[in-house]
Amino acid sequence: MAAAQSDRDLPSALCSEFLNFSAKDTASRWLAAPELQQEVYHHLALYVPRILCLGPSRGSSSREEQREEQREELACQLLLLAPLEWLLLGEEPASGLALLQEKNLPSPLCGHVFKVGEPTYSCRECAADPTCVLCMQCFLGSVHKEHRYRMTTSGGGGFCDCGDAEAWKKGPYCHKHTPTDSSRHSQEDPVAQLPADMVARGYSVFSIILKYAVDMLTWEQEDQLPEGLAPPEREDTFYCMLFNDEVHTYEQVIYTLQKAVNCSQKEAVSFATTVDRDGRKSVRYGDFQFCEQAKSVIVRNTSRQSKPLRVQVMHSSVVAHQCFALKALSWLGQVIQYSDGLRRILCQVGLQRGPEGENSSLVDQLMLNDSKMWKGARNIYHQLLMNSLLMDLKYKKIFAIQFAKNYRRLQTDFMEDDHERVVSVTSLSVQLFTVPTMSYERLQCDYVRDDHDREFSITDLSVQIFTVPSLARMLMVEENLMTTIIRTFVDHLRHRDLQGRFQFDRYTAQQAFKFGRVQSLIGDLKYVLISRPSEWSDQLRLKFLEGLDAFLELLKCMQGMDPVVRQVGQHIEMEPEWEAAFTLQMKLTHIISMIQEWCSTDEHVLIEAYRKCLNALSHCHSSLPDGEQPISLTLAGHCVETFRYQVSQDKVSIHLPVCRLLAGLHVLLSRTEVASRFPEQLPLGELSPPLLIELPLRCLVLCAQVHAGMWRRNGFSLINQIYYYHNVKCRVEMFDKDVIMLQAGASMMDPNHFLMIVLSRFELFHIFSSADCRKRYREANKDMVQQNNTLIEEMLHLIIMVVCERYVSGVGQVEPFDEVRREIIHQLSVRPMAHSELVKALPENGNKETGLERVIDTVASFKKPGVTGRGLYELRPEWNKHFNLYFHHYSRADQSKAEEAQRKLRRQNGEDTALPPPLPPPLCPLFGSLVNLLQCDVVLAMEGAVLQWAVEPSGGCWTESMLQRVLHLVGMALLEEQQQLENSSGDDDVTFNYTCKITRPGEAPSTSGSVLALLESLQNAPHLEVHKDLITWILKMVVNIKTMRERTSSTSTVTISQGQGLEETVRDKDKAERKRKAEMARLRREKIMAQMSEMQKHFINENKELFQQSLEELEASTSAAAENSPPSLEPSCLSQVCVGPRRVIGAERRQLVTCILCQEEQEVRGQGKAMVLAAFVQRSTVLSKNRHRNLPDPECHDPLFMHPDLSLGIHTASCGHIMHATCWQRYFEAVQLKEQRRQQRLRGHTSYDVENGEFLCPLCECLSNTVIPLLPHTHSPYPSADHPSFELWLKTTHQQIAALRSAHRKQPDDVAEGTEPGAPEGFRVDFTPQNPFSSSINEMITTFSMSTYKVGLKVNPNEQDQRVPVLIWSTCAYTIQSIERLLMDEEKPLFGSLPCRQDDCLSSLTRFSSACWTAAPLTTVHTHFIRLLSALVPDSRVENTPCILNIDMFHLLVYSVLSYSSVHSLDQSGWSGVDSAHLHLLYLVTVAHLVQILLTSTIEEVCMDQDSGESEEEELTCKLYNTLRNHLGSVLPEVTSGWQLCHSVKAGVLPFLRAAALFFHYLNSTAPPADLLVAGPGQWESLCSYLSLPSNLLQLFQSQHTLLEPLIHRWCCHPGVRQTLQGAGVIIRFPRVSNRLIELPEDYSVLINQASSFTCPRSGGDKSRAPTLCLVCGSMLCSQSYCCQTEVDGEDVGACTAHTFTCGAGLGLFLRVRESQVLFVAGKTKGCFYPPPYLDDYGETDQGLKRGNPLHLCLERYRKIERLWRQHGIAEVIGHAQEANQTLVAIDWQHL
Ligand SMILES: [Zn+2]
Ligand SMILES: [Zn+2]
Ligand SMILES: [Zn+2]
Ligand SMILES: [Zn+2]
Ligand SMILES: [Zn+2]
Ligand SMILES: [Zn+2]
Ligand SMILES: [Zn+2]
Repeated sequence: MAAAQSDRDLPSALCSEFLNFSAKDTASRWLAAPELQQEVYHHLALYVPRILCLGPSRGSSSREEQREEQREELACQLLLLAPLEWLLLGEEPASGLALLQEKNLPSPLCGHVFKVGEPTYSCRECAADPTCVLCMQCFLGSVHKEHRYRMTTSGGGGFCDCGDAEAWKKGPYCHKHTPTDSSRHSQEDPVAQLPADMVARGYSVFSIILKYAVDMLTWEQEDQLPEGLAPPEREDTFYCMLFNDEVHTYEQVIYTLQKAVNCSQKEAVSFATTVDRDGRKSVRYGDFQFCEQAKSVIVRNTSRQSKPLRVQVMHSSVVAHQCFALKALSWLGQVIQYSDGLRRILCQVGLQRGPEGENSSLVDQLMLNDSKMWKGARNIYHQLLMNSLLMDLKYKKIFAIQFAKNYRRLQTDFMEDDHERVVSVTSLSVQLFTVPTMSYERLQCDYVRDDHDREFSITDLSVQIFTVPSLARMLMVEENLMTTIIRTFVDHLRHRDLQGRFQFDRYTAQQAFKFGRVQSLIGDLKYVLISRPSEWSDQLRLKFLEGLDAFLELLKCMQGMDPVVRQVGQHIEMEPEWEAAFTLQMKLTHIISMIQEWCSTDEHVLIEAYRKCLNALSHCHSSLPDGEQPISLTLAGHCVETFRYQVSQDKVSIHLPVCRLLAGLHVLLSRTEVASRFPEQLPLGELSPPLLIELPLRCLVLCAQVHAGMWRRNGFSLINQIYYYHNVKCRVEMFDKDVIMLQAGASMMDPNHFLMIVLSRFELFHIFSSADCRKRYREANKDMVQQNNTLIEEMLHLIIMVVCERYVSGVGQVEPFDEVRREIIHQLSVRPMAHSELVKALPENGNKETGLERVIDTVASFKKPGVTGRGLYELRPEWNKHFNLYFHHYSRADQSKAEEAQRKLRRQNGEDTALPPPLPPPLCPLFGSLVNLLQCDVVLAMEGAVLQWAVEPSGGCWTESMLQRVLHLVGMALLEEQQQLENSSGDDDVTFNYTCKITRPGEAPSTSGSVLALLESLQNAPHLEVHKDLITWILKMVVNIKTMRERTSSTSTVTISQGQGLEETVRDKDKAERKRKAEMARLRREKIMAQMSEMQKHFINENKELFQQSLEELEASTSAAAENSPPSLEPSCLSQVCVGPRRVIGAERRQLVTCILCQEEQEVRGQGKAMVLAAFVQRSTVLSKNRHRNLPDPECHDPLFMHPDLSLGIHTASCGHIMHATCWQRYFEAVQLKEQRRQQRLRGHTSYDVENGEFLCPLCECLSNTVIPLLPHTHSPYPSADHPSFELWLKTTHQQIAALRSAHRKQPDDVAEGTEPGAPEGFRVDFTPQNPFSSSINEMITTFSMSTYKVGLKVNPNEQDQRVPVLIWSTCAYTIQSIERLLMDEEKPLFGSLPCRQDDCLSSLTRFSSACWTAAPLTTVHTHFIRLLSALVPDSRVENTPCILNIDMFHLLVYSVLSYSSVHSLDQSGWSGVDSAHLHLLYLVTVAHLVQILLTSTIEEVCMDQDSGESEEEELTCKLYNTLRNHLGSVLPEVTSGWQLCHSVKAGVLPFLRAAALFFHYLNSTAPPADLLVAGPGQWESLCSYLSLPSNLLQLFQSQHTLLEPLIHRWCCHPGVRQTLQGAGVIIRFPRVSNRLIELPEDYSVLINQASSFTCPRSGGDKSRAPTLCLVCGSMLCSQSYCCQTEVDGEDVGACTAHTFTCGAGLGLFLRVRESQVLFVAGKTKGCFYPPPYLDDYGETDQGLKRGNPLHLCLERYRKIERLWRQHGIAEVIGHAQEANQTLVAIDWQHL
């Protein structure tokens, strides 16, 4: 048995007993017992406390804990569960279960329960509602993957709906779950498939275990157990159990625990994490006294500010049984997976009514105790409910009823409970913010990222039940669910004012929290209503209308809430609360729309609902305060009765949901057949139209007055309310409905009366009614006039909207399709937009659809994005004619932008700039009389008045907007008349007669002319140039209409060609004039441009803001500059050589540079003023071939030999901007001072770290941390003619070294004697070369040296350290190497393709490196040279020389060349130049590199026949290889193919040669050969000749055979070589493959899936909340969480930051998978987010995964990120991002 193998894992005391235990025997004993439950309980009572919860594990390590858990798990299985399995199955469990599964005919439901973060898919075409989701597997096998789908990540819980025919309109089954013939018929009882005895045993086992679990989980006593479970012997062992709540923060809990149970911070964090995750955790184990003491400390410490943390001291046996109860529930869940029959049995057992009658089944007990249980327990039983009841179609229904019955009580418990809803049985949506704050930000937040996203992934049960249409219908009919939910909701909002309306005063956090809870009910209501019924039963009608009654009660409580009164004189003292009311309105918006949709499907219901709503409204009106004075108004010969009411003085509220619902229903009625056939049957007449319009009108007037600035003293609260009133989230059920209500009212009233009431409410009546209304009085003060002007504009706009807004089906004769299309046209008229912007601008319905996709392609064309930016939609030109300047959803800003854009477009097309009203669609019959507003007397009077005012150019009594609106109204009237004429057969049925009316002269006493006459006189008014085109259009229309009228009346076809001719000449004239104007504009522009460029020439620091170029622009411009004038790159036809005595001397020219700070020119001279280049030095692992190597210890690291794995390098970059050293110092001091002052004022960071020497380049704001001094050549530009042989040079150098060595050994004062014996002639060890540089340059040399030293080693500056020069050489070599790699991989030529700034940087860096030895003590540099040389020419007196496999040869070359100068400086003999030495060093290093490559090459023998015989090169290669084999023997494999060897050697050595060419090019300023200025083949030869090398490199070895043989022998004999080759340590092979970022999958969901199965490595299999992928090495990390914090340099940092220190030397690139966001971090304090390389089909990224469109990898963008990394540009990007966005600076990046 299994127990035998695992005995050592069990606690030894129990061992023998456990070994003898037989599950089979126990089961048969139970079976024989008369009272099964007693037997089982007895067994549990005996074993459970002995197996589980035996106190804290003895070891404290997590491994120990894990072992302990495994032990428990095993014992549980063997001793407790195995007997139950035997009992249930009657046979060996493994085979029994297998048999069950085999016989099971599963239902076609998938039912996969989602993990947190797992991807879920919904089909936007086929899903019944957005809560229907598929798991990834089902999705991939379904038809929907070809449809428009949406992808989200699950919040955990919830299950896959595959196989549920109700959830999908089409394709309910995936490939795997398609029912086959053999699958069970859904009606069949699966229990019948099981053997009878098993059924019987099943019932008894399940009921015992389920009851046991329910009893234990709902058990409330702390040290007693239920009957029959008391342990045989009771010990004094207790747990101090800490419970979770949503009140205390992590920090509070951690702090308290440290105090109470005396644990370390680390343990406390671990406790707190577990409490947060599982809902409870024991924090102490021991006797009662011991635990009680901890409890009292915790309670005492947390009770001060709020209610104390919940702590219980529980007996260990109670805890053990609760623990086993959970295991038992999981076990049940597993067992029923094997058989649908067993599942049904469990369902029956669970729902069986208990002895207490109603609501007493075990499931009821669990549900009703839900709020009392801890999180871990809830999770497990919710899972079981999902696996059992919700997976069984029959019992799902019964459970649903039970759930609905308990609904009210559950919700009430939930309100009082302070746990998250996710784990509550009523849970609805994952509550991201545990304490929702009711702030403005939160609303904003809702607006932009709104919690809908979570709806897919909802974990809770109501979503599983209520969204199933058949279940929802049933629950509505049988359990009156709709009413229940609404009543429960209303009950919980208890704060009311005197009129019974909701009153939301300032909320405390606690209240806000509750309010947040209450809102979840709205979510449930939404689920119930989400799908409209296709068929209505009488019963459903009844219950729906009953629900509507309850809903109207709710709306009545909202009608008129939060009223405002205009504040005069003083500013408001305290901003009134407004967010709560708007949150409620926002949440209800979809519900209100859905209720209307329901009504629209049944005429009877609709009419009934209309009646009810009308009733409710009259009820509201009756409660309006009386005492409004009746008045009568007279204007233009009409008279109307109304009452006195002024928005500016009385109370007004923006919340009118009852009116608005009625408006919605009115529109629906208008769509019905009844409306067109029997309008008298409609219940219209019960409320008078003036009352209908009253409240919406007040609200609109309020908005107008706010715009006019009349409510300034009422503060932001009101401004916010007005904002949301018009906002896309609210407007459908607010602003839009108010306009509709005005339309409805106006269509039922005399238009003159309607307009007079409007005028009166706008408080403008006196202006238009006064006797001389056409001459506005001017005596009033200026503010008042301005106010009135705005009000008149707003009022005219409102009239335009009332007549013109006909794109709601029911108002106008349109389809919903047209409405969306019109919105899109108007959005795109402002500017081209991205898909997401359009989606945001359109209202969503309850299914999160905007209808955008259906129409977008008909009106717009799509433009794909480039490497940056996003795809944009552009309006097709044919739709421009639908543009309406007074579109009701435009804000004033939108309107003016759209106007500008449209006028510009028209000018570009050579058209006139009139923007006349578009042709509106016809009205529905119920709204038909609206058009009369356009031609009624009052409107004509208003038009006349405004036109009359406009005659006078100045005065400020009218505005152009006013005039423009009037012209628009006139235009609309003319269009209407034209339309009617076109549609009519004869003149008689045309009721519209505007053209006639406008010829009437103005009313007495005004003597001015008719409207038409006024228009004609205005046409040529010079001050109305802008409106000229529109007036011309109007007059043309008038002419056209007259013609039409004449034509129809005379019925003869009159040709109107004459008119057309006239028109044309007018047009030509217009055109000519426009052309003249355009020309003038062009000249003006050119003048301005010239001025601008003049100004730009004078850029200096003061106006650097102008100069904020992005990185790329900068690069582009500088590289362009490089192309134009490559300073030292003139290629020549001569064979160029860059090293050695034959090197071609670069034309020595004076180098003149300009300081960017003072603009002075300066020559670069050794003795001159120092000039510096802004530079940034950073550690780099970009080239690393070994990311596992630990960072070196800064104190004792010896950097002299770079390992070929290049695991850590120092990179230097520069923006190429040059300054005087003194100018820079002054600038940097100013920066420091500013920083000090800033720090005194406020805490926080800047984007750069001044203390670490960082600053921004004063010109381009590029992040810098040091400066490189510009240096001229130090050594003679003329190479000496003598070139000693290699042998001689080596010999002399040895002598020199010997002399140096003996000199070093002596005291310095002894050396005064002169030449050492044995030293070569002319070599003076005591010579002190003259320092070639001025003191200011020397100072800068030290500055840069120290920066490199500091950054490279992470140490404090120390000028005495011997390593200083080495680090400078190192950054020179590393920077060249990394640039060589970039050029290679981007297939750019080696020379001439670098941007200027890199070219300048390399050049100054190389020159600097070659001169830096002058600042260091000579002996130091000599010692370095001696050691470096000894690596190649072994020297017994030098110790610890690494073997050649552990040396990067390019670094060695650079170091030895640069350090040689110091030796050479002592040689006064002039017998050989420094160039000869360089060449010999190059030869020597090259040979060593060849050997290195041969040693590490792995030739796979391919046996290619080489017919052509071997070339000399191949022969030599083989010879060398065989020499090596002679030394090393079988460590090297045998290779016969010389061709292959030769090939791999050439490939391996190429990067070295290229880097060397770059190095010597910059060192000696030699022009490169023409061949190397272009990319492509043929480089080898030129490269070799440029380096003065034979093109057959092996000749180097061959020609110096005798000298080199012994060296090679000694290299190979180094013990390190053999060790490395035999597998100790990493072998680096050449050429080193360039590092790339990891491969990413094409489909983003693959990543999500990968991340969802990633568990936190620290907290035992827990899901990570923010899985984050390192793009450099591919590690997945658990970011942004307490569990994975580690200490780096004495500070706790998150997983990402910690990872950067091992993977990227402090710099990292990550992909935050859940957020779809790239994260860059540098060091502990800097970071930024970067757009991810994943795009949706609309060319947009989805940062935060809010939209859910499928995302695919955009390779170009990923390559761009990769390039940034390889160019070492990440730190710079972070700098720029932080500079541009200060909020980034405040983020605690180190916690990510
Ligand atoms: Zn599935
Ligand atoms: Zn499936
Ligand atoms: Zn589909
Ligand atoms: Zn200067
Ligand atoms: Zn710069
Ligand atoms: Zn973790
Ligand atoms: Zn990594």
